[in-house]
Amino acid sequence: MTMHEHHSQTSVPLVLVAAGRGHRAGEGLPKQYRLLAGVPVLVHTLNAVLSDARIGPVQCVIHPDDLTLYQACIDQLDHAAQTRLLPAVPGGQTRQESVKAGLEALCLTAGAEHRPFAPVLIHDAARPFVSADLLERAMTMAAHPVAAIPALAVTDTLKWVDEDGRVGGTAERSRLRAVQTPQVFGFAPLLAAHRQAALAGQNDLTDDAAVMEQAGHRVHFFAGDPDNIKLTLEQDFRMAEAKMQAAMIPVTGLGYDVHAFTTGDHVWLGGVKIAHDRGVRAHSDGDVILHALTDALLGALADGDIGQHFPPSDEQWRGASSDRFVQFAVDRIHQRGGRLVHVDITLVCETPRLGPHRTDILGVLSRLCGLPTTKIGLKATTSEKMGFAGRGEGLAAQAIATVLLPE
Ligand code: MG
Repeated sequence: MTMHEHHSQTSVPLVLVAAGRGHRAGEGLPKQYRLLAGVPVLVHTLNAVLSDARIGPVQCVIHPDDLTLYQACIDQLDHAAQTRLLPAVPGGQTRQESVKAGLEALCLTAGAEHRPFAPVLIHDAARPFVSADLLERAMTMAAHPVAAIPALAVTDTLKWVDEDGRVGGTAERSRLRAVQTPQVFGFAPLLAAHRQAALAGQNDLTDDAAVMEQAGHRVHFFAGDPDNIKLTLEQDFRMAEAKMQAAMIPVTGLGYDVHAFTTGDHVWLGGVKIAHDRGVRAHSDGDVILHALTDALLGALADGDIGQHFPPSDEQWRGASSDRFVQFAVDRIHQRGGRLVHVDITLVCETPRLGPHRTDILGVLSRLCGLPTTKIGLKATTSEKMGFAGRGEGLAAQAIATVLLPE
């Protein structure tokens, strides 16, 4: 690598502000820890910013009460992403104080202040929709020693409010911009501006551009992104959830399972115990429907198979009730932010007959999969007396599952 290449920005630190309490978003968890498509907002945001390989280290600033919630989020990141995070630091009473805490911590660990033109990005944890294009624009600005903020033209007409709560005037819309994050600054001037504001007793500026403005710096605009919304109100979460769902891609998984008949007086099929003149040879309860279904669910996730997660060599699965295997796979889908939308199952055997037990089996599958019975195909066929199933030597089942996963 030449000196020139080395000078180009290979790592730009980012302060992620996640210390707010988010009371405007309704009851429950602070908004950055609420789930969107089954995954905390903070995880979405971290994955989004870390998708740009030039960004790092990331300094999260959190509320001291949220350490457990924060750690649970970090545990959901892949290992490479985790290594690009500095230990989180506690924020202050206001956003301004929290950013300053993050900058001071970065200054100690990364020494960013000592590189004269080193940039830093500041981003809000409550903006999980920050796109690669917007990050690209921010990084382009970061190549220059300027302060710059993403902004959008305002489309609504804006009014001033007078002391009586009535219209006090109309703002000149063409001169207004709605401002977003990530904002881009020189690290040293931003930290100096924050220290200066803190010394002056100022602590309630709502973005870092305002801190720089107060210190007399010029701040430039670059194009923001209308999709880069800040989750603030309850309706923001409803809209964000719909957006996440719309961005999901369908995947399918295939499962197949066989168990041989042996002596016995019952078989398990689809979680239902069915009296029969034979049993099946199996380490667990030998439920071919639930085993095929489990493999279909794991297949959709490209996440191994039932034998890998529940090895037959492991004594704890001896005689195990197979609904736990399905439950495990359904949980894995949810952990990935996915949603099971449909399953279809075919049982292949001469006996027992599925018909009399159909309703019971559908009830079990509906409960395990979290699906209405209208989204569960359950069929049976004989093998026309051919092959092992046709000769009545055992049971077989096939399953296919359709799952929506975040891209
Ligand atoms: Mg099996």
